[in-house]
Amino acid sequence: MDQYTAPITKLIEELAKLPGIGRKSAQRLAFHILDMEVRDVEELAKAIIDGKKNTKHCQICGNLAEGDLCGICSSVKRDRSTICVIEDVRDITAMERTKEYKGVYHVLHGTISPLDGIGPDDINIKSLITRLNEDIKEVIIATNPTIEGEATAVYISRLIKPMGIKVTRIAHGIPVGGDIEYTDAVTLMRALEGRREM
Ligand code: ZN
Repeated sequence: MDQYTAPITKLIEELAKLPGIGRKSAQRLAFHILDMEVRDVEELAKAIIDGKKNTKHCQICGNLAEGDLCGICSSVKRDRSTICVIEDVRDITAMERTKEYKGVYHVLHGTISPLDGIGPDDINIKSLITRLNEDIKEVIIATNPTIEGEATAVYISRLIKPMGIKVTRIAHGIPVGGDIEYTDAVTLMRALEGRREM
């Protein structure tokens, strides 16, 4: 990398740390940034810093939020008696694309994965249990159909069922090993409709 100046080498190194960005892509991006107007580069840098600094997690569901609550938890239009449990905040975007689901969410921020040393206390399960009360009619578990996703679903259902709350698991259409985030809206809608009681 001796052919570049120290600041450009540093920029390429930092860009290459991003997921899906290899050395070549990092170089291409760095040179694209060099060609940009200073004003646009400043906008980009500001957006990165603001995005990071001004994003919190919703105190109720764990979704991304600007304040204490996310847009969904603070909306009066959502049905608070149904909670859909998902692995990742990006799964909310996928579920919202179905336009069918009107309940609220709970983001686990991961799955139970003993092989990776991730236990129930390492993901957002405790806060799910504490938000359950007599007003909750159904908990839909929409973790990915992977081994970890299934194990997490079973673990959560065993915790919740004794509380007398209906627990369902989305069932059909999503291929085993598949990813909720990349499932098309129609398939996901059918999966939601075809959920079964656990
Ligand atoms: Zn929320």
